[in-house]
Amino acid sequence: MASSLDDLYKDIILDHYRHPRNRGQVENPDVATRGYNPLCGDEMQLSLRLEGDRVAEVMVMGRGCSISQASASMMTERVKGKTLAEARQLIASFKGMLLEDRELSDEEYDALGDLEALEGVKSYPVRIKCALLCWNTLLEALDLSAHKSHKDDGNES
Ligand code: ZN
Repeated sequence: MASSLDDLYKDIILDHYRHPRNRGQVENPDVATRGYNPLCGDEMQLSLRLEGDRVAEVMVMGRGCSISQASASMMTERVKGKTLAEARQLIASFKGMLLEDRELSDEEYDALGDLEALEGVKSYPVRIKCALLCWNTLLEALDLSAHKSHKDDGNES
């Protein structure tokens, strides 16, 4: 019954793996972080540039399994142009989908877009870390940038 949907999801994942979006490094990034998943050997370098409270550019360079690389590619597509608060909400939704096994709202699924294709990963606990690597790396980048902007302008209201 679910096989055609599975095939569709597999196609989406393979497409992002073979043709990763926003691949590379942002020039003059505000933040750059690295992530590593020792269980699978997945590696990731994430860089982003902010404009105000928006993610103007986000790029990823990485290597590893199809799940880790496809997740990163889809993530950059969804996060680019979003506010920092929206980006954090996406992280929470994606982690909720894979880790907490909770029912996402329709709004959350809409925001995740193609990332829904990775929901099936939750049946393979060893791959969950692959799918989450880029999200944890992004979270670290957002935390670093929040820290930095506090230091840069001390009179933020
Ligand atoms: Zn992996």
